[in-house]
Amino acid sequence: VGPAAVPPLASTGPRPFDVHAVRRDFPILQERVNGRPLVWFDNAATTQKPQAVIDRIAHFYAHENSNIHRAAHELAARATDAYEEARETVRRFIGAGSTEEIIFVRGTTEAINLVAKSWGAKHIGAGDEIIVSHLEHHANIVPWQQLAAEKGARIRVIPVDDDGQVLLDEFQKLLNDRTKLVSVTQVSNALGTVVPVQKIVEIAHRAGVRTLVDGAQSISHMKVDVRALDTDFFVFSGHKIFGPTGIGVVYGKREILEDTPPWQGGGNMIADVTFERTVFQPPPNKFEAGTGNIADAVGLGAALEYVERLGIEAIGQYEHALLDYATGRMRPIPGVRLIGTAADKASVLSFVLEGYTTEAVGKALNQEGIAVRTGHHCAQPILRRFGLETTVRPSLAFYNTCEEVDRMVAVVERLARARS
Ligand code: PLP
Repeated sequence: VGPAAVPPLASTGPRPFDVHAVRRDFPILQERVNGRPLVWFDNAATTQKPQAVIDRIAHFYAHENSNIHRAAHELAARATDAYEEARETVRRFIGAGSTEEIIFVRGTTEAINLVAKSWGAKHIGAGDEIIVSHLEHHANIVPWQQLAAEKGARIRVIPVDDDGQVLLDEFQKLLNDRTKLVSVTQVSNALGTVVPVQKIVEIAHRAGVRTLVDGAQSISHMKVDVRALDTDFFVFSGHKIFGPTGIGVVYGKREILEDTPPWQGGGNMIADVTFERTVFQPPPNKFEAGTGNIADAVGLGAALEYVERLGIEAIGQYEHALLDYATGRMRPIPGVRLIGTAADKASVLSFVLEGYTTEAVGKALNQEGIAVRTGHHCAQPILRRFGLETTVRPSLAFYNTCEEVDRMVAVVERLARARS
């Protein structure tokens, strides 16, 4: 008899997801609101922070705090190392080829403004066209509108169907030789629609058009690989992926960043200054004028490492099951209208309830300790596409549970019964 076959490794598939264990990593989930345990269903607005992130920021201020790059002393070296390690973590997390392609900014809004005001100002002129989708957050509309007004360019909009899915055929028809940029979100913050950005980038590139993907709502829910996606720019905010506020990222392909003028001028971004002229640093420093948000960049690095430890695929699977469960429980409630019914969705469950303002629903949920966003979610065009000014928007993360969904459903059912 030969040697026994070596059993296959048990851990080759996705790791099992222990929601009760991960909840213990988030101290704020122990809070009580109005006498009830907090249910945090406002993850699309911002996410809660694990202890690992809180500790990392505290450690930075306790042991490493200094300005970076400039001073030649021990703490400057520690702070610089921590900051550049965070840049490397971002690079690895999104699959970029080089840390030179990773620029730290304040968040997605600043990221899109940076691209509009540097790359856009150079490459978009009178009569040119910028394509966005009907799903966009105001942060991916207003900077392009400002640029278009300044340059005499024009915004074109990819329409969506009644489920809130972008119409790829209509997108193809919008492309022409004046199109310079397609800037689209990967996940809608108002409806949760997952946008086929891989296809959109492919189609745009075939037409010789540059692309920007807004990853604010996708980064915490699905694997992002900017090289596989091949997008020219990818942007996201740290606070939407369990990191601090005030820190975010522009990824740009190296050759594009090299050919893009800086946005702001000042310290850190220069190689040499005289009163006659300035020589800029290469990317990414060229785009990081002044003292940046060093501690929160380090905190973002810790957040991404935390997500890596859980596994983004395992997170995505768990969240999909939770969203399916929540959708299945909400749909049959009399008077509930779900807004955004695309087949492929992430995290978001927008709805309105007949007989109630969205504000009243939000207040009733808050009474029970359940935090949801009500309002226009900074995405007025897409809500108006559905004849609405506001919705109630629960948005889920991997630390949420079916029991929490049940608590929300109980409140909405009670309101629905009181109406009839
Ligand atoms: N884009 C999308 C899709 C968003 O959901 C958000 C925030 O909600 C933003 C951009 C703006 O992000 P920030 O406010 O972090 O700059």
